[in-house]
Order: sequence, then C-alpha cells, then structure tokens
Amino acid sequence: MTAAGDLVTTLCGRLLLGLAALALGWSGAPAAARTLALDRDVCHAVSEAARPDDGLSTLRFSCRGVPANYQRGSLWLRAPLDGAAAQRGDVALMVHQSRFDRLAVAFSYADGTTRWQRVRAGDYGSQWRAGGQILFEAPDRTVSLTAVTMRFDRLSGHQFVHARIIPKAEASLQSAGMAAAVGAALTLLLVSCIYSLSLAFAVRRQYLAWQAAWAGTMLLWGGLWSQMHLALAPQLAGTVTTQICTFLACLAIALATASAVTAVDRTRASRALRTLALVLGLGVGLAGIPLALIRGDSLGLLADALGLVILADLLAVTAYIGWAWRRGSIEARDFLAAWGLPMAILGFIHIVDVEDGFWGGGSKLAVLVAATWQALWLAAAATRRLAHLRIERDHARSAEAQAQQLARRDPLTGLPNRRGFVESVTPLLDRARADNLPAALLLVDIDRFKSINDIYGHDAGDVVLCGIASRIARWEGPMCTVSRLGGEEFGLLTIGMEGIILARFAESIRRGIAACDHGEVVGDRLVTASVGVAEVRPACDFQQLYRLADAALYDAKRGGRNKVVVQRHRDTPSAESGREVARSN
Ligand code: GH3
Ligand code: MG
Ligand code: MG
Repeated sequence: MTAAGDLVTTLCGRLLLGLAALALGWSGAPAAARTLALDRDVCHAVSEAARPDDGLSTLRFSCRGVPANYQRGSLWLRAPLDGAAAQRGDVALMVHQSRFDRLAVAFSYADGTTRWQRVRAGDYGSQWRAGGQILFEAPDRTVSLTAVTMRFDRLSGHQFVHARIIPKAEASLQSAGMAAAVGAALTLLLVSCIYSLSLAFAVRRQYLAWQAAWAGTMLLWGGLWSQMHLALAPQLAGTVTTQICTFLACLAIALATASAVTAVDRTRASRALRTLALVLGLGVGLAGIPLALIRGDSLGLLADALGLVILADLLAVTAYIGWAWRRGSIEARDFLAAWGLPMAILGFIHIVDVEDGFWGGGSKLAVLVAATWQALWLAAAATRRLAHLRIERDHARSAEAQAQQLARRDPLTGLPNRRGFVESVTPLLDRARADNLPAALLLVDIDRFKSINDIYGHDAGDVVLCGIASRIARWEGPMCTVSRLGGEEFGLLTIGMEGIILARFAESIRRGIAACDHGEVVGDRLVTASVGVAEVRPACDFQQLYRLADAALYDAKRGGRNKVVVQRHRDTPSAESGREVARSN
C-alpha cells in the first residue's frame, strides 16, 4: 500500500471507523483468499542490501512476529504456493506500489529452479499496470511452483506492502478494468476542476476556487497513485511518487476543508467552529510535508497521530456545515450531500477489507471514485445555485424596470408625469437645437378647477382630470410629447412648429378641452383651460422653456382665462421676440 493510502485508509478512517467496527462487534477485516497477509501467509527475512539475489537459498526465514530493521537493507517475504493453480504454473503476483528502491520477485519451482523478475523505482517496464500495481507472472513451465519470494530493497514500511496472488487471466482482466475506471475518474475530475475554476472566475466566489484546487489536487493524487504520470515523468517513480501522493492527500483534505468552510455564509454558522476547522485543515495540510519525507517506523506512528487530527477536522467541518444547514444555508445542504458518499465509502472500506477488490484498486480506487462523485456533485450544485441566482436577478431587474416605468407615470391619468416628461423631452430639445428646429412648450391649466372640487367633490374633479388627460393624450405623436405636470396642469412639447401654425395648434387644444363633455359629473358646467405657450428657436433647455411658458400662462389667466398666450423668444429679440394673445372662444 502506498503512503498516500495511509491518508485515505489509515489516517482518515482508522479511528473513525474503528469505532464503527467496534459498534458492529467486528474485530478485524477478514483477509481475502488470495491476498497475502504478512502475519499469516508469508515468512520474512532481513539482510543487508549488498546481498545478491542468489543468496535466497541460504536465507533463514521466520514465520513469526513482524520484520524489523530492514529500511536500510532488504526485506525478503516468502509465500509458499500449493494447489492446482501452482501445479499448472498459473500464478501471477500483483504488488501494489510502495516506497522501495528495488523489488525482485523469485518464483521457485519443485525442481529447485528459481526464476527472477526485477523492477526498480521508476523503471517498472512491462510489469507496470494502471492503478499503482506491478504485475509479475510466473514463467510458463511444466514444473509446479512451490513458492514466491519478494525482495524489497530500502522499503519504507512493511505495513504498506500489499500483494495478491491471482490467476494470470484474472490479473489481465483486473488491470484492464482498473485502467478504465481510473481513466474515467481522472477525466471527470479534470472536467470538474476546469469547470469549478472557470465558475470561480466568472462569479468571483472564493469557495469555487478552493473547490477547483481540491479537484485538481485529487486529480494529481489519482494520476500519481495510478502511476499514469510515469509516461510523462518516469523520474518521479517509486519513493518520489509516494511521497508526493502523501503530501497531496494531506493537501486535498486541507483544500476540501477550506472549500466547505468558505462556501457557507458566515452569518449562518458558528465562528468558533469555522476557526477550528480551518486551523485543523491547515494543520493537516502542513503535516503532509514531514509525513511525505519520513521513512521508517515513525511513519506509521505519525500517520496514526495525523489520523486523529484528520478525524477532528472532519468532525469540525461536519458540525460547522450541519450548524449552517439548520440555519437554512443552501450551500451547507449541498456540501453535506457531497460529503455524504465519500464519508460512507471511507466507513465502508474500513469495516470491510476491499484491498483486493475493485480490480485491484482497493480502497484507493474507491476513494478516487468517491472524490469524483463529490467533485461532480459540488460542480452541479454550484451550477444549480448560480442558475437560481440568475433567475432571481432577472426577476429583480424586471421588477426594477417596472418600478422605473411606474415612477415616470402619473397613476391617475396614465400620462407621463413631470419626471418622465423631462426625461423624454431632453433628447428632443437637444435634437431641435442641433438641427436648428423651433421648439415649443404648451402649458395647459384648467380654469377654476378648485371650485369643481369644492362644488362637485374631489372624485368628480378626478373624472374631469381624466377626461381632459385622455383628450390631451390624442395629441401625442412623433413631434409632440404630452404629460401631466402636476395638479390640473398639463404640458405638451412640440418640435418643428412655430408662428401661426403653433398658435393654431394651441388654439385647437384650448377648444378641444373646452369641448370635452363632463356632463356626468359636473352637469352643464363648462370646463375650460388656459394655455401658455413658449416658442423658442434655437431650442433652450427645459427649465428655461418652462419659465417662459409659465409666464405666458400667467398672462392668459390674468387676461381672463380660457385664452392662449404665446411667448416667443428668438436669438435676435429685437426682431422677433414678443407676446401674442389669442382670442378666447
Ligand atoms: P386657476 O384658474 O387660477 O388655475 O384656478 P384653480 O382653482 O384651477 O387653481 P388652484 O391652483 O387654486 O387650484 C388647483 C386645484 O386643483 C387645487 C387642488 O386641490 C386641485 N387638484 C390638484 N390635483 C388634483 C387631483 O389629482 N384631483 C383633484 N380632484 N383635484 C386636484
Ligand atoms: Mg387651474
Ligand atoms: Mg394650476
């Protein structure tokens, strides 16, 4: 077993799932029939590294206790073979990657012959198989096999050695299945990493960047553990690979912690738990450095100690997310769902021995698949959340647009109000100024409107206002914009009309209003309006225009009401500026 396996099997779950195992009354994982259990199926011997392989025959093997002091020398592990397969010579030895400098495998035959196959760290040749496995097939001979011996030079820890004896055909099948599974998992992790990263940039969410980093780390871990990288970087084989794997496994836990913690809205979670989880996550990440560098017995001890920290970290993250979930955090719910399967798988692989399952990928393949599932789930959850946010944003935008629209309309008459009017006439006035067109503002004020309210009531006044407003709305067109400026005062802005034509237009407005029928609410009372017109050329701004029109309106009122007064303003006032009072009726 590789040192990275420490983290996913030994570190992560030994304690956590030891408890579960205890609860189930289970006292140890049953070894699979063909897996070589070091304390039961093999005998061991230790020698100095310089001893030649031929020295096998003179070694004294011990079948009791555990081997010691082999890290600087060689550890020999010998398993006797019997049964029909051994007689046929149909035996393959599958050794999982581990930290060693050299591995030599000897198949011993009944006629006393020994056939050796050797690999070095970084040079596994044709023995290499996907999923961090090295395959040794017994040479085809008519003589039956009696034993297989593995010689590890400079092995970091015998507890990480994992080897299986299987028929040759099954070994090929398992290798192919593993390669397919690992390839699919790595591809999905890559996709999820790129996707989370692009999402992180697009929506500027910190947790998505952590998530992408985590998926990327798991991708690297999976690539290294399964030895895929050897095609590109053979110098990383062996101990270097397992050291990097160990570090990556610690880093992945730290990144997953950061991703989970930063995904949740701070206001919905406990600050103390957040700090605790982050500190523990950081601790695990940093611990990966010494753990990756250590060789020897202390590795197992440190791995167990780190297991405690990882357990605490996982519990802190779970409590933190659970807390936030109860307070209604959607992100927390997504993360709990995403972490659920990996945690269950971690539990499963510690209760049930799966090391020779999953086509030889064992627990690490299960962890890789779980990580892939987790990455995809998180990416899908992020997409769902973002889609939700986009829908909410669109609703908010259309509501805002509606509110803006309403803010520019008079609710009683439906005409644009002063704000809407000013906004729409400003570009018209600019255009008139640019094209040197005449512009005019016509202010229409109902005469003695207060008395209508006083005599017939406010509701009747409203009806009169609406009647006049709908009459005024008919003059709306490409060259004329209308509005209710406030109270009983209306405004019309025209472009291109001047002189007698404008005066006639204003007069037609006065007449049109006077001709409105309000008989239902005011009987036969005549409702008239006064019109003050400001005519300018070139066009000035609205405020100036309004002041001129208001002065004209004042004159119309003072002149007896139901009148049109036109106030002209030209660049050359002496020539053209002046005031004209139209006849009433
Ligand atoms: P003048 O001929 O000098 O314009 O006299 P007037 O009574 O029309 O003018 P004044 O400014 O004295 O009164 C305007 C009235 O319009 C006062 C106010 O109560 C009324 N008014 C303003 N807005 C509304 C409205 O939305 N509905 C109704 N029913 N009355 C309104
Ligand atoms: Mg009035
Ligand atoms: Mg008024």
